[in-house]
Amino acid sequence: MNATAKYPGYRLKLNLIAAMALFTSLSMAQTPRLHYKGSNSKVKAAVAEANRILSDPEFYRKVEACQTFGNTTYSGTAISGEMQRIGQIEVDDYWNPLSKANAGTVSVISMNTAKLKRSHASIVNTLIHESVHATDWNTNAAWDYTHDGNSPAGQGNTAPWVIGAIGEGFVN
Ligand SMILES: [Zn+2]
Repeated sequence: MNATAKYPGYRLKLNLIAAMALFTSLSMAQTPRLHYKGSNSKVKAAVAEANRILSDPEFYRKVEACQTFGNTTYSGTAISGEMQRIGQIEVDDYWNPLSKANAGTVSVISMNTAKLKRSHASIVNTLIHESVHATDWNTNAAWDYTHDGNSPAGQGNTAPWVIGAIGEGFVN
């Protein structure tokens, strides 16, 4: 039986369609999707692998198993939830051999192509780490679970470093 037969009236039918669309969008997993338009082959390969990991429910289960991180009150469950609501994240690149940074991220992930003489797994780790930063910023334009500096020294328990390492553990 369709909706109009049981409940006459277009408005009610339209409301039912809208409610069904809302339910569908809320119930669909909307994992982050990294989108890279550049041409660097190492970045391209790492983006493809990071996207596979960022769509794996087991990755989020491991993030959610982290109850606390350094420098934040956010739990793994809270951060996992924000990551699964963020949608597309843009990735671009720059070249700066003088910088210590592998990447820089506010709303967009920027990969330093002068810092790619390392393993595929390590570059994927950087992309997952930067995805945490992009999620953090793009959710509410504030840094809620970040770290200081470009080194994990003394910062290794913060969410970007921990979640980047979790992601690296899923690299094929
Ligand atoms: Zn970072």
